[in-house]
Amino acid sequence: MIKKDKKKALEALYIDVEGCQKCPLWQGATQSVPGEGNPDADVVFVGEGPGKNEDAQGKPFVGAAGKFLTTLIASIGYKREDIYIANVVKHRPPGNRDPLPDELEACTPWLDDQINIIEPKLIVTLGRFSMAYFLGEGMTISKVHGQAKRRDGRVIIPMYHPAAALYRGDLRPVLHADFAKIPKILELIEKKEFVKLEDAVKT
Ligand code: URA
Repeated sequence: MIKKDKKKALEALYIDVEGCQKCPLWQGATQSVPGEGNPDADVVFVGEGPGKNEDAQGKPFVGAAGKFLTTLIASIGYKREDIYIANVVKHRPPGNRDPLPDELEACTPWLDDQINIIEPKLIVTLGRFSMAYFLGEGMTISKVHGQAKRRDGRVIIPMYHPAAALYRGDLRPVLHADFAKIPKILELIEKKEFVKLEDAVKT
């Protein structure tokens, strides 16, 4: 799909997400937070779900964790408009509680649709819910963060959630180091040097 058509397809999806009642989360939310960014992005970042600020503004990652995410994105030479940001759930869980299995099951088809429209080269998962969705249960973030994996023809890199670094300062340099790998990984994907990919990301 060309960029113009991807934009149109995403706009249609946003309308459907706003009307979604497949789980009860919509009842406690001000509005949906489907995602935002470049419809033709090379990299899609996927967090957990909207918090208070995101619920108020209808945009992902606009609170304190979002400010740090924007810094991380800038540290590798990108702007937020270059990339795409989404979450595994599109309506705010009450009191910022963890999303429940039924809510994840109901909501993640929207994320699949977004990924299929955008067709990014790389998906960066932020936090354990997003990691579990793309890579399955049983991964430990402290062990696998920053390591690119291939699943169903897509390249996924799990990373810590930026919010974790707000209360654990030692994770800030870890996130910076993991983000610093993104340009190199994209280069390897573009060159189709998949064999080298896993070596490159383990260093
Ligand atoms: N945390 C998330 O996981 N997503 C947001 O959009 C904001 C905070």
